[in-house]
Amino acid sequence: MRYISTRGDAPVLSFEQAMLTGLARDGGLYLPETVPTLSDTDIRAMRGQSYEEIAFTVMRPFIGDTFTDAEFREIIAKAYAGFGHDARAPLVQLAPNHFLLELFHGPTLAFKDFAMQLIGQLFQAALSRSGERVTIVGATSGDTGSAAIEAFKGLDAVDVFIMYPDGRVSEVQRRQMTTSAESNVHALAVEGDFDTCQGALKDMFNDFEFRDGVRLAGVNSINWARVLAQVVYYFSSAVSLGAPDRAVSFTVPTGNFGDIFAGYIAKRMGLPIEKLVIATNQNDILHRTLETGSYTTDGVKPSISPSMDIQVSSNFERALFYAYGQDGKAVAEQMDSLKADGSFKVSQGAYQALKETYASGRVSETQTSAMIKAAHSAMGELLCPHSAVGVHVAQDHLGDTPMITLATAHPAKFPAAVEDASGIHPPLPARMADLYDRDETITHVKGDVAAIQAIIRERISA
Ligand SMILES: *Cc1c(COP(=O)(O)O)cnc(C)c1O
Repeated sequence: MRYISTRGDAPVLSFEQAMLTGLARDGGLYLPETVPTLSDTDIRAMRGQSYEEIAFTVMRPFIGDTFTDAEFREIIAKAYAGFGHDARAPLVQLAPNHFLLELFHGPTLAFKDFAMQLIGQLFQAALSRSGERVTIVGATSGDTGSAAIEAFKGLDAVDVFIMYPDGRVSEVQRRQMTTSAESNVHALAVEGDFDTCQGALKDMFNDFEFRDGVRLAGVNSINWARVLAQVVYYFSSAVSLGAPDRAVSFTVPTGNFGDIFAGYIAKRMGLPIEKLVIATNQNDILHRTLETGSYTTDGVKPSISPSMDIQVSSNFERALFYAYGQDGKAVAEQMDSLKADGSFKVSQGAYQALKETYASGRVSETQTSAMIKAAHSAMGELLCPHSAVGVHVAQDHLGDTPMITLATAHPAKFPAAVEDASGIHPPLPARMADLYDRDETITHVKGDVAAIQAIIRERISA
């Protein structure tokens, strides 16, 4: 299995190289050269299997000879052992034909644990074999950072630096990043918003001297291995509702487009998915793009679903690559226009292709709160604000096909918003009840790439 860049001008890599590299050297994102397919028989065989068995079947064709079957099974087993639910990704019914996929039973209570826990084990296995050391730098709007720190803390071949926008993450998210005692973990509170952090990260990857000097590795949602890990629960949930003999649709609370793009890969692999519905909060660039064909940034408005507060949605580039018939040059032109003017216009053909696969909806702050309250009283489900955005949009797209809405975080990760909306204070699961008592270690830094690079150089040489 070979990996190519969405911009068509970077070295072709193996799975292991693509995983350790993150962003391609031409600024693009890695994708498999061809997407392997599973037959209906393969998919039917997943009925009644454990999450780990399904994970092996779905991901095995993508990893080439990076790991043996036995090694890969062990990596998967270790990755999901720390989850607080035996099903890993349980499905609950909300209403006739509407189901909720609970992706918040991992160690940091958000779906990002599914990918990050796997990536931690993949990195450890690959690096301990080669004896190399890497520096992981990540940008987070909250959940990626805590998931990364939880996955990489204490690993001896890795230093992990997480940049988060100072004052714009919830207290639970911040504490999950700042209370690790391990010396290979560094939480950087950056002046600015998530796009400042993501911009600094991109600049570091494009600074080849720095990139090679510190052996920079990325675990943001642009990392192909993360997308791959997320493909699995599309299969496990669809199969439990009758796939491949019955189609399903998914609604996904969306920010950087990694989670919903994993659904698109599942569909290309042969899973019968009718619609992939993009749910956005008031930061609705993706909804506007689907409505108008024009991708236009207009600044981040902080919301009660902060993990979706972005205006540049990195993984959307992967969707564009397929919408443009895998034409890397066309994608590169669009991305140049985005960089120069803050916008681009999707061509007619590509726009049609996007509309065939995706639908979309946008939810205001008031609607999000009202949905948290209504879901609790009518469905008996206490939703986090992101999941509430999803459920609200999904309700506008219900039909004959079963709808699965992804619940991306546990309500206790966003207690203030949940309590304001519902009057109920969501308790943390017992296994992390001491979070508010732990000591925090935070490094404050200006939203300036040179300042951040200086800190990284200093810490890894210490
Ligand atoms: C990261 C995150 C999202 C957005 O996912 P993307 O893959 O970036 O689209 C939604 N909800 C929660 C809780 C998240 O942590």
